[in-house]
Amino acid sequence: MTPAGGELRRNPANGKLAIVAPARATRPADAAGRPASAPPCPFCAGNEALTPPEVDAERAGGERDGPGWTVRVVPNKYPALEGRHEVLVHSPDHGEELEDLGDDRLADVLAVWRRRIDAQLTGGAAAVTLIGNIGPGSGASLEHPHEQLFATPVVPPLLLDELLEAERHRNRYGMCVVCEQLETAGDRLVLDGPVRAWVPEASRFNGELWIAPAGHEADFREADLAAVAPALRRALTAVKACIAGAPLNFWLHTAPADLRGPFHWHLEVAPRTSTLAGFELGSDIAVVIKDPVVAAAEYRAALPPA
Ligand SMILES: [Zn+2]
Ligand SMILES: [Zn+2]
Ligand SMILES: [Zn+2]
Repeated sequence: MTPAGGELRRNPANGKLAIVAPARATRPADAAGRPASAPPCPFCAGNEALTPPEVDAERAGGERDGPGWTVRVVPNKYPALEGRHEVLVHSPDHGEELEDLGDDRLADVLAVWRRRIDAQLTGGAAAVTLIGNIGPGSGASLEHPHEQLFATPVVPPLLLDELLEAERHRNRYGMCVVCEQLETAGDRLVLDGPVRAWVPEASRFNGELWIAPAGHEADFREADLAAVAPALRRALTAVKACIAGAPLNFWLHTAPADLRGPFHWHLEVAPRTSTLAGFELGSDIAVVIKDPVVAAAEYRAALPPA
């Protein structure tokens, strides 16, 4: 029996949203290392019966819910929100990270991201947040690399803030705020080209990295995936090389279903080299110790070949 999803609640005292999902407490966890007696990995090829039936897949062969897939999408067995929480397994290989796939396969994975985002946005979701939790301590409960997609019936507050800032910035300065960030990155630019990466001047995380198309584009569904794949591969490789195994999160911000103003899609990569402490939690003001210019120089030095 599939446990029920959580409930989206709002604290009227501060307007903050929370999904209360007690059923997720029962989900298995192996990210701290798989003991010899651990149950088989539900995301490895051959173990398809251990997940709910797939909702999407890329296949080299084989049958639905059997091996032969290269990318497989299943509903989360322990959803934060019922029916709106998907797991995207980007490889049948237990040890294969996104940046290991090679650009062609990575572009195929991104095409599946795009298809699932489209399915949720055209299916009634207000917005989609696609995320990756990488490494122990990142929030990943299964070590087999995967991404997750959360479709929400509301535009999440962070995306809403970005939409409002984009509108304000355009009204005041006549241009897209992300286009401006791209143009003014200077020595914080890590990757140039049709898809760029840079460390924001006001980073919220030590070594925070943003990835976005150089040309203005609101919606990830319009992206040139053949250009996104090498940029994402190189950026993730460089970040991982510089953070000494620290947990890493990333999230994709793309236009909501009902986009009324300017927006510029981007992917934010957040190394978790420090813990959020009382002041940060109590003030919503981040404290970072890593100079963004230094972080960018380290990332540039760690970039793999194009
Ligand atoms: Zn596995
Ligand atoms: Zn723009
Ligand atoms: Zn964002």
